[in-house]
Amino acid sequence: MTEHMPPPAQGCRNTPVLKERGQREVFCGLTGIIWLHRKMQDAFFLVVGSRTCAHLLQSAAGVMIFAEPRFATAILEESDLAGLNDAHAELDRTVSELLARRPDIRQLFLVGSCPSEVIKLDLGRAAERLTVEHAPRVRVLNYSGSGIETTFTEGEDACLASMVPVLPKTDARELLVVGALPDVVEDQMLALLDAMGIGPVRLLPARSIDANTAVGSNTKFALVQPFLGETHDALTRRGAAHIAAPFPFGDEGTTAWLRAVADAFDVSDATFAAVTDAPRARARKAIAQASDALTGKSVFFFPDSQLEIPLARFLARECGMLPVEVGSPYIRDALHGPDLDLLPEGPTISEGQDVDKQLDRCLAARPDLTVCGLGLANPLEAQGLSTKWAIELVFTPVHFYEQAGDLAALFARSLKRRAVLDRGAS
Ligand code: SF4
Repeated sequence: MTEHMPPPAQGCRNTPVLKERGQREVFCGLTGIIWLHRKMQDAFFLVVGSRTCAHLLQSAAGVMIFAEPRFATAILEESDLAGLNDAHAELDRTVSELLARRPDIRQLFLVGSCPSEVIKLDLGRAAERLTVEHAPRVRVLNYSGSGIETTFTEGEDACLASMVPVLPKTDARELLVVGALPDVVEDQMLALLDAMGIGPVRLLPARSIDANTAVGSNTKFALVQPFLGETHDALTRRGAAHIAAPFPFGDEGTTAWLRAVADAFDVSDATFAAVTDAPRARARKAIAQASDALTGKSVFFFPDSQLEIPLARFLARECGMLPVEVGSPYIRDALHGPDLDLLPEGPTISEGQDVDKQLDRCLAARPDLTVCGLGLANPLEAQGLSTKWAIELVFTPVHFYEQAGDLAALFARSLKRRAVLDRGAS
């Protein structure tokens, strides 16, 4: 089984983009710590922020803290914000106490926030100073998770981009897969690549600092998340070559992603088919079962997770949905172009947000399903619209073949819930 769906006669790559700049409704980049701290087993994330930041992290992490956590907030008090204390000295003391108490920490990220940016606390300088103090046992890096002009998945991008300059150099011909995946999904991906004879495969982020992740001019890298623009640029600056591909959502996206990687590593058609035919068939069957409720239904994406374009492609091409508007916080041709090529023309493609105007467009269109942030979901549900929380798609395993049916089912569930509510009301 090697057939492919033909690309649409006209995709959306050259569709004029509606660019909006106005009020936005999104979480900040601190949210990424929730999945990154689970992925990087020897890392610690120290947010330099306010009580608001601490509360956000605590509530986003929910009940998951059952042992010594791998993140915390160094709270900036009013006197820090007023410049009355030496915040750098305080930070050094906090870090020294933390590292003395936690010998398991090998990588420490100082994470900037809105308050630390407002008082212009130079965390880059702090990270350099603390690296010198605590090397070689601990590597200290910094990035910003501030909510000023950022969206929540940019936290992961900023974190990974901060790691690229300190990765060791290699001249080996290696594949670097970039983006945090749940371990079980990562293992499935590694098994597929291994079965095709592709390797060595390195990961960013790796589960530990001791992994052999390195970069150089013979590195070819593939992104598994569509929100890693800064990391893409940082790797390119280190001489690595990007393998452009649709993102691995659904059968088509996964097959196209694997095909692009396979082509970069000279895998034969026969080997590719032998490895992918069976999981593709499973994915197709699972999608077909889950997508009955989706076929012919319209969908509207508010800009939130930056997963919007590849998900719209999946819903349109594999589940028979009709995208009305596909909004994304940022659109970059190098990352999103291959998915836009496959997204059939028709929907408005919008970048950035002016939330009131977009709400007007959504309410006028009355889509069958709206994918949006938590803050917009309740008001839209109250208007009788069916919604899906975009953040759930980031927290749930949705990549590659074995999750393709679950991905369709996540969207179908919202429509089924609305049908039950409507039946109850009538
Ligand atoms: Fe709020 Fe900014 Fe802290 Fe995020 S970083 S929780 S937006 S204050």
